[in-house]
Amino acid sequence: MEREPVLIAGAGPVGVVAALALAQREIPVKVFEAAGQVNDAPRASTLHPATLELLSDLGLLNDVTAQGLVAPTFQFWDRPTRRLIAEFDHAILKHDTSCPFVVQCEQHKLARLCIERLKAFQHAEVNFLSAVTSIGDSPNGVEATIAASSAERSVRGSYLIGADGGRSTVRKALNIDFEGYTFPERFLVLTTRHDFARAHGVAFRAYFSDPDEWAALFKVAGNDGRAAWRAVFPTIPGQNDEDVANEAATEARLQKFFPKSGRYEVLHRNIYHVHQRVAARFQKGRIFLVGDSAHVNNPLGGLGLNCGIHDAVLLATLLSSVLLGERPRSDLSQYEAIRRPINIEYVQQQTIANKKRLEEKDPATREANFEALRKISKDPVNHRAFLMRTSLLESVRKRIPE
Ligand SMILES: Cc1cc2nc3c(=O)[nH]c(=O)nc-3n(C[C@H](O)[C@H](O)[C@H](O)COP(=O)(O)OP(=O)(O)OC[C@H]3O[C@@H](n4cnc5c(N)ncnc54)[C@H](O)[C@@H]3O)c2cc1C
Repeated sequence: MEREPVLIAGAGPVGVVAALALAQREIPVKVFEAAGQVNDAPRASTLHPATLELLSDLGLLNDVTAQGLVAPTFQFWDRPTRRLIAEFDHAILKHDTSCPFVVQCEQHKLARLCIERLKAFQHAEVNFLSAVTSIGDSPNGVEATIAASSAERSVRGSYLIGADGGRSTVRKALNIDFEGYTFPERFLVLTTRHDFARAHGVAFRAYFSDPDEWAALFKVAGNDGRAAWRAVFPTIPGQNDEDVANEAATEARLQKFFPKSGRYEVLHRNIYHVHQRVAARFQKGRIFLVGDSAHVNNPLGGLGLNCGIHDAVLLATLLSSVLLGERPRSDLSQYEAIRRPINIEYVQQQTIANKKRLEEKDPATREANFEALRKISKDPVNHRAFLMRTSLLESVRKRIPE
């Protein structure tokens, strides 16, 4: 067995899930994170059944559930008329999965949980303020240059995992194209205390179709145990941050969405660029890309992080088997062969379709979309098939490596 550690660039949720999965198989790991702490900006919160199954195998399910909110259902609404169009219930998957529900758990909580668990392993370390600045690959191993507080050092490893996010230094160092496009509009996320469930009957995850301004709502547990809601809206291309996020503009936007007496209490205002991109390759020699460094997508459907966790677990399974001598090294090619097509077929296609459905302008197409969703929700066979796909269960069941 090669004794050198697996090096991981990035302690985001995907990097540390990979680290934990490897460490639990007795594989030494070293994680290098450029920032001083886990990023707690409001990003992913939706963990789908297929991901919960994997987190359960890693022993994380109870903690993730305790720190999050169980969301059995999600809804589609027509925003202009505030009509509920269809509701989907994961309970219909009770014969398909041990986790027939979604857990809304903020991604920084998952990352912190993994980092906490890694402390139990002597062969695992997580280094903050340690950016991977360059990488090298040879037939016998990898080498990474780590920049930490003005000093640079070189670290050797058996393999390297680039889990360093959408702007991945690892991907760029490997000269791998990030194929796809960036949307002209950005997405605004407003976090508010207003209880949309109590006031309007909104499920903990809900999507609002609107030809002028679609929206999405997610309830999260919050850090202080006081729940909050994240409302996502598109912005007008070219609008600057101040125009989008000033207090009067965000208040007006929320009042237009659901009018209420008194002002909205807004906790955070965040604006994100949104992309649909997939790396041309997920592996070069002993170096791999996982999570956002390999693929990015719009957040409608809550699939990006989920797909990244699936990458991390499959890669850790393959790498640990190879390092423990249970499989030939050539099996590592299964990682890209399985994960890249799954991302394109399930995550890219689905998130693009989700966005199109929410922003559809043609009245006849909008009504046809609503009718289709209603029909699916009312028919148990189609309801189940729809959720098998949106929960990513279909994608993981389809391609389990031998
Ligand atoms: C508004 C919004 C909502 C979203 N909602 C969902 C959702 O509900 N469900 C879902 O599945 N996905 C969602 N996503 C997507 C999700 O947030 C990302 O897919 C997820 O963060 C990817 O995790 P990651 O670990 O791959 O990358 P990141 O979270 O970006 O982590 C990468 C880490 O690498 C570090 N790093 C960068 N460069 C280096 C370097 N050179 N050396 C060392 N470290 C480095 C960074 O500091 C960072 O900590 C959402 C995204 C947004 C923007």
